Amino acid sequence: MAVSSEMIETRMSAFREACACRGVKVTHQRLEIYRELTSSEEHPDADAICQGVRNRVPTISRDTVYRNLKMLAEHGLISIVGMSHERLRFDANMELHYHFVCVRCGLIRDFYSQNLDNIDFPAEAVAFGDPVSLHLEVKGVCRTCRSLADSSS
Ligand SMILES: [Zn+2]
Ligand SMILES: [Zn+2]
Repeated sequence: MAVSSEMIETRMSAFREACACRGVKVTHQRLEIYRELTSSEEHPDADAICQGVRNRVPTISRDTVYRNLKMLAEHGLISIVGMSHERLRFDANMELHYHFVCVRCGLIRDFYSQNLDNIDFPAEAVAFGDPVSLHLEVKGVCRTCRSLADSSS
């Protein structure tokens, strides 16, 4: 499952514009880091992104990759999915979407759901203040992990 090259180019030009809007300098390294992230559906961690970027920028350090990812996340250009197996995972898909998270192998996949989009903030939450966003994820055991479990029993 790869992201189409058309989609990658669309996201790359949206990224350049978004950087310009927010006053974030578009460096070669930053572009390559973003390209690596946006080309993947894996919600990769910094190590995986670094390995991919090194195919094109062999001298880049893990630290540079990590700092850039954090900075892009702070500017709302990418998002941090959360911890899986104790590592931060990153996401370039900024459309409203949800994640299926495998509790065994840490697989994260995007899905879209109008039903979830239409959920209202519960009155019990609104009682505490003005709500901004609601995060929902589906946890489970992915097909690969399930078939591994089936075949070993
Ligand atoms: Zn799994
Ligand atoms: Zn996602």
